[in-house]
Amino acid sequence: MDKKKRTWCYLQAPHVYEMSPCSCGNQNTQWSEYEKHLWCEKCKIDFLPESAGVFSSPIPMETAKLMGIFFDRVIIETNELESLDNHYKYIKVLDFRKDVFNKLYETVINSGGYIEDKRLRIPIFLDIKQEDILIKYKQEDVEQVFLYKNKESFTIPIATYSDDGFKKFFLDIVLKDKELVIEKNKEYDNFLKFLLTQKLKMKLTEKEKEKKLKI
Ligand SMILES: [Zn+2]
Repeated sequence: MDKKKRTWCYLQAPHVYEMSPCSCGNQNTQWSEYEKHLWCEKCKIDFLPESAGVFSSPIPMETAKLMGIFFDRVIIETNELESLDNHYKYIKVLDFRKDVFNKLYETVINSGGYIEDKRLRIPIFLDIKQEDILIKYKQEDVEQVFLYKNKESFTIPIATYSDDGFKKFFLDIVLKDKELVIEKNKEYDNFLKFLLTQKLKMKLTEKEKEKKLKI
């Protein structure tokens, strides 16, 4: 059997998902670079675990959460994080361990219902400034989804990762004079506050680094 290389792995370690340990007894395994395999640091081998743990049978999301199991994942090539949105589809994560302020963040218009319907999952980009957020999108895509669902507002999910772990925000967007705008509501304020806190934290760690360099 040809071993296929993994393109992504879960953020949590295999034992969290109750996958079997290595035959040497080591529970503390890692995701192997090959699909379905795990890596044992002690034996320096890739192995097929006896049981795939929670993946061997369907598990309700709410139960998983209660067990402390999350399905957020790392895209290996780019080292980006992805998280499940409330329709159980992956969205990119704003990773505050890196600088997020000068890049476009890709999310989706979450129009609800039939997630397999591509018309209901429109890519949208956020340009995150310090005190504002600009949205970029393809006009025809957006008009299509608003027309199709005959609705006036939708939400866009934003997943974030910082020292405090994962946190999600759901911004409301509305179509005004054929332009998409973000509703300046409480959730928007919360997100801006969160951005500001993260920005301050980033500045503090930068200063600490500088200090250490001087010593
Ligand atoms: Zn081992």
